Amino acid sequence: MSWKELPKAELHLHLEGAAPPEFIRSLAKQKKVDIGRIFDERGNYAYADFAEFLKVYEAATSVLTTPEDYARLTRVVLEQCAEHGVIYAETFLSPDFCGGGDVKAWWEYCAAIAEVAEEAETDLGITLKGIITCIRHFGPEKAKAPALCAAESAGDFITGFGMAGAETVGKPGDYAWAFDCAREAGLRLTCHAGEWGGPEMVRATLDQLEGIERIGHGVAAYHDGALMERLARDGVTLEVCPGSNIALGVFSQWENHPIEKLRENGIAVTVSTDDPPFFHTTMTREYEKLDEVFGWDEGDFRALNEDAMAAAFCDEATREDILKRLKA
Ligand SMILES: [Zn+2]
Repeated sequence: MSWKELPKAELHLHLEGAAPPEFIRSLAKQKKVDIGRIFDERGNYAYADFAEFLKVYEAATSVLTTPEDYARLTRVVLEQCAEHGVIYAETFLSPDFCGGGDVKAWWEYCAAIAEVAEEAETDLGITLKGIITCIRHFGPEKAKAPALCAAESAGDFITGFGMAGAETVGKPGDYAWAFDCAREAGLRLTCHAGEWGGPEMVRATLDQLEGIERIGHGVAAYHDGALMERLARDGVTLEVCPGSNIALGVFSQWENHPIEKLRENGIAVTVSTDDPPFFHTTMTREYEKLDEVFGWDEGDFRALNEDAMAAAFCDEATREDILKRLKA
């Protein structure tokens, strides 16, 4: 079986970040919107560093202005995922980009995305769940609106809440109101930490926010033995995105990536693409590199996907069903 065909689960995927550049370009053209020079001469997203990446990301996202745009985007992204063997995915959704944080407007976006997800379950064989995110660098006040949207739309499709954006801004505890609001609505929690920040940021996230079950990235934990022990003991799963880390220069090359060390220390790691076209990656490529660099085989990948499903923010019936398909 090729790595492309192997059934996979992906837990860390930003919906707008998965938008193919040609999709964004054609939408910009159609709407006559100038999004500036965000593409290189080959038509790929162009940025020099993380700060510029965030700007290009927001410029690309600015052409997605209606629920229909998001419905079309969701379809394109799910087709892409399915092509690479993904049968279960969770995607980050930002009400800041979908209706400006207004709860009523968000409902329309959410309904449009959920409808496409439901269709894809039937015709592409992929299940999608949504995790609402606030954006850290927009500040704690701005995090309240997405949390309220999350609390309002919590249910079968919206199952989690998290925080993305620049980790250098503020302390995790500054966002406690938003996380408490989402948790009280029954949503499960994840948070980006330990990508750019050190192990102390992972620690602060777990200490200052109640109920965090997963950490987005968290790769900085490998600098800190006691933290690795804590993650393994408490069953905190890391949403590791190796290709993203290499593309953004968090690690200089695959050989230096700590995913293998984290796994050896008993931590449940999963593998995702984060913002695949931005990082010139796909789930197939991630698996190919893990095989090539660390010698991971089919057994390793099956175990990886089972760990992902154990940490998935879905109902038990879905979990059982996907686990069965992963084992088939
Ligand atoms: Zn991310």
